[in-house]
Amino acid sequence: MRTKIVAGNWKMNKNLKEGIDFIKETVHQIITADLTGAEVIFATPFIHLRKGVKEVKKLNFCAIAAQNCHWENSGAYTGEIAASMIASTGATHCIVGHSERRQYFNENSEQLSKKINQCLEQELTPIYCVGETLDIREAHRHYTHIELQIVEGLFHLSEEQIQQVVVAYEPVWAIGTGVNASPQQAQEIHAFIRKALEHQYNADIAGRIRILYGGSVKPNNAAELFSQPDVDGGLIGGASLQVDDFMSIIRAAQ
Ligand code: PEP
Repeated sequence: MRTKIVAGNWKMNKNLKEGIDFIKETVHQIITADLTGAEVIFATPFIHLRKGVKEVKKLNFCAIAAQNCHWENSGAYTGEIAASMIASTGATHCIVGHSERRQYFNENSEQLSKKINQCLEQELTPIYCVGETLDIREAHRHYTHIELQIVEGLFHLSEEQIQQVVVAYEPVWAIGTGVNASPQQAQEIHAFIRKALEHQYNADIAGRIRILYGGSVKPNNAAELFSQPDVDGGLIGGASLQVDDFMSIIRAAQ
């Protein structure tokens, strides 16, 4: 049984007070409504990490994630943050390879596989994002594209390490567009990713890895997406910024 994950990716939104108030209110509503059946992760800007950790510290169903880390542990990289620094706040997860990082910051596979290593060395759970653009899907190259992202980002990991990873399938054409992948499209790709993991490792390991869907998950489509056999929850952007929307999605994951 894979416990579902609902991870909110705030991107570059919310000042310190807004962020911490949001976490407090969401946690309060989760507890009041007894919606503790899924793991809820807040992927915040770096400024929220430490205080966010304090808000969720005693709750085994909540965690705090960073949205990125550097591929080195220290050095002359002005403005960057190392996985060890993130871990020192008490945060437990880190998104790696979000399509916005790949697109706007030209992050490549070599850097991303090093970021995964940095996370694992610091016992941070990487949430590794993969997904195709619309051009790639229309050219029917999405399977090979996603396979390559999985191979290059993850397949250097040992059997033990791969089990620490969460994968997020995020079709780029669905992120922030309001056009989600259909539940069938999501299921097809998730099953494909799980098969690839099975070939590289084994069925038992592949069966334990959580694969999240991300791309315009909203209160009105979350339940159907999450009901697919290989969809183990979601990585949520826009709908993670309002407590009511985020709570509806958490409810759909119970
Ligand atoms: C994301 O940024 O990871 C995301 C899935 O965004 P949205 O839910 O807004 O499409």
